[in-house]
Amino acid sequence: MRTLFIGLFIVSFFFSNVQAAFSTENEKDEKTLREERMSLYKKAEATTHIPWYYFAGIDQYERQVRRTHKDIPHEKGALGIYIEPSRWVGPMNPHKEAQDETVISLFGGIGKDGNGDGKADQYDDEDILYTIGSYLQSYGITPPQIKIGLWQYYHRDRTVSIILGHAKLFKTFSTLDLDHHAFPLPLNANFSYKNTWGDARGWGGRRIHEGTDIFANYSVPVRSTCYGIVEMKGWNRYGGWRLGIRDVNNNYHYFAHLNGFTKDLEVGQVVEPGMVVGGVGSTGYGPPGTSGKFPPHLHYGMYKDNGRTEWSFDPYSHLKMWERSDRQKAKGN
Ligand SMILES: [Zn+2]
Repeated sequence: MRTLFIGLFIVSFFFSNVQAAFSTENEKDEKTLREERMSLYKKAEATTHIPWYYFAGIDQYERQVRRTHKDIPHEKGALGIYIEPSRWVGPMNPHKEAQDETVISLFGGIGKDGNGDGKADQYDDEDILYTIGSYLQSYGITPPQIKIGLWQYYHRDRTVSIILGHAKLFKTFSTLDLDHHAFPLPLNANFSYKNTWGDARGWGGRRIHEGTDIFANYSVPVRSTCYGIVEMKGWNRYGGWRLGIRDVNNNYHYFAHLNGFTKDLEVGQVVEPGMVVGGVGSTGYGPPGTSGKFPPHLHYGMYKDNGRTEWSFDPYSHLKMWERSDRQKAKGN
């Protein structure tokens, strides 16, 4: 019995170490990947005159879409961008792996040779970026022209606005490392929350409760949970004063029942984790200004867009994680 116990102890000790090594290994890989991607975007900017952050925005968006769809093959290189073979070689081209740029162009394909090796290779990162860049370039390289090019390419308004939002974030912070978060309330405030996902009796007037209610006093600061773009701000009968922020992973962070917003906060504005965007309130359940029909709390929800539809998911475990990591950071300072 004792041997077994010691054996288990050794085994679990071994595995926890392996796990720790594995996670730092992954982080290192992520850092190397980001550097590799950045150099690809910069190279494409040099040859197409489309600023690097547009490539970063497109790539980031497509990587997220790709991860949520089983019908899109896994990427082979550092980029997440997927161009369908028929689009690359031309819809009527019988050779789905064609690499001759002239033939591809005769068939109406968009595939281009970006690295000068004489092949328009649909699995080569430089060729992929150069192809997208050339496509956009044909509509012009000013921001409004790039927007038109993106619409021609995707034919989906939401996709275009998400990509432009990502591009704005990458441009503003000059880095691809924006996957950081903060708990929505300052940790020195009194607050409480439970996992109420899917409860029928939540505030918000929806059939099921799509979020977590964080109870706190009136006017406790509400902070952005991510690097993101303010996508929506205004009144809604159930949510009261509410705010929506989209992050670089295409998550939509939703804050409701606010007592108001931070002065000068505008739709389209860039925010970062911990930045105060409003205050806790109890607005909602009536025309604009209605307040006090329930105890003050922040309703916090998370939604994901996969390029085709948007759905809500349970934010509770994320909140717990961000609260823990904010506490650790506070201890470290
Ligand atoms: Zn709620």
